[in-house]
Amino acid sequence: MINIPQRILLGPGPSDTPARVLEALGRPTIGHLDPVFLQLMDEIRAKLKEVFRTSNEMTMAMSGTGSAGMETVFANLVEPGDEVLVGVNGVFGGRMADVAGRCGAVVEKLEAPWGTVFDQGEVIKAIERVKPKIVAIVHAETSTGAHQPVDRIGEAARANAALFLLDCVTSLGGAPVEIDKWGVDAAYSGTQKCLSCPPGLSPVTFSARAMERLAARKQKVQSWYLDLSMIKNYWGQERAYHHTAPINMLYGLHEALTIVLEEGLENRFNRHRAMAAMLKEGLAKLGISYASQEGHSLPMLNAVTVPDGVDEAGVRRRLLDDYGIEIGAGLGVFKGKVWRIGLMGYSSSRRNVALVLAALREILGK
Ligand SMILES: *Cc1c(COP(=O)(O)O)cnc(C)c1O
Repeated sequence: MINIPQRILLGPGPSDTPARVLEALGRPTIGHLDPVFLQLMDEIRAKLKEVFRTSNEMTMAMSGTGSAGMETVFANLVEPGDEVLVGVNGVFGGRMADVAGRCGAVVEKLEAPWGTVFDQGEVIKAIERVKPKIVAIVHAETSTGAHQPVDRIGEAARANAALFLLDCVTSLGGAPVEIDKWGVDAAYSGTQKCLSCPPGLSPVTFSARAMERLAARKQKVQSWYLDLSMIKNYWGQERAYHHTAPINMLYGLHEALTIVLEEGLENRFNRHRAMAAMLKEGLAKLGISYASQEGHSLPMLNAVTVPDGVDEAGVRRRLLDDYGIEIGAGLGVFKGKVWRIGLMGYSSSRRNVALVLAALREILGK
């Protein structure tokens, strides 16, 4: 076995995995139709409903990472020729537009500068103008650190007969996500961000309206693997074989969700906010400011501007080599200009904030 170092993961994901989750992954593999495993699946659904704050029956984990969840929502809910309105203000909004287009959607992009959020009034105006079948937006744009307010969009979508899709990959388990209260019809997340489980599963949830849209499709879902009309019969009472569930990954997710609920969602959100505030204060003392819009910065992903004259990649390299700390580079428009310091889930601790600040102080010679 190659020697895997012990890192401190303070990038855009994966985050550090608690020992309890790693231990859960190592339990004996059993059959995917074993009664014990079926009970575990039911418990995962119940826990995910709590974390998503939803009563949606159709709440479970897709096999695959967050992007598989993204493909699942679009593949199941878009029919060729459907108009889809997508908010694009970073990499992941751009990825949603790409995926929707591949599903045959006529994509209408609503754009905003990187680092900023959309004004909800503008999103609502665009819904009224375009009258899309679907409106899709990213809640926590991991490429820019922007925290998008979304509490008014669901109501406008409903009034205009559109479904509201939300990317919660980075927000779930780190900041409030209110699927039912916000009128979200379909949402997906990932395990390796604020849930602090290794990458490999994508929690998803679908409203009754979304499931009606799926049932009314004229054409089969193009993707066999992601077709919810079959997958729901495995996660539901029929227990019909579709594909072999990633058994041990689901042990890990079960344990990770148990940890989230033991801490309590509100406590968890408060911890993420407090650690981000502590980091921001420390970075300000080093002369480092934020690249995301003031008042709309994510607590779990801090996108900060690399100071003038500093070797962006060299600092990241030294953090990794000398301190074992991983932080993220900028993507797209932010490439070479921004560092992304993640404080996600288990990684969001006072110890890690103090450590990364001390390491940066030494490296920058402050
Ligand atoms: C990480 C991320 C994704 C993609 O998830 P993968 O697990 O990398 O496939 C999608 N959307 C957002 C906002 C993300 O942060």
